Amino acid sequence: MKIILTLPTFEAALDDDGYTTATSGVCAGCGDDRYGYMARLHPVGWLHAENEDGELTCLQKAVNSLVTSDASAAWVSVAQHVAKYPSRHDAATIRSVLRELANLVTAGGNR
Ligand SMILES: [Zn+2]
Repeated sequence: MKIILTLPTFEAALDDDGYTTATSGVCAGCGDDRYGYMARLHPVGWLHAENEDGELTCLQKAVNSLVTSDASAAWVSVAQHVAKYPSRHDAATIRSVLRELANLVTAGGNR
C-alpha cells in the first residue's frame, strides 16, 4: 500500500544579508537554520526538504527513521499527520490510516 502525505511547505527566502526572513527557527532534523525548501512533518516539525547533490534531506531521513524503527510508530505518526491536516488527504488515505490504527489497537489487546 502506498500513502501519499501532502506536507505543508514553504520556501525560506534569503534577504540581502543571507539570512532567512520571517521564517525564524531551526530544522527539527539537523538543528541548523531553516533555508531553502522546508516541509513540515507532524509531529517532528519543519525539516529541510531541498534536494542537494543527491544527499538525503532531513525530511527523507525523518521519514526513513519512522519507517525502519517501528511500523506501529510510523502509522501513529502518519495518523497524527492526517488528523492535523485532514483536508489535505483523500478519503482512501484516511480510511487506510484508520484501518491500520484499528489493527494496531486490536493486535495490542491480544498481547
Ligand atoms: Zn535540516
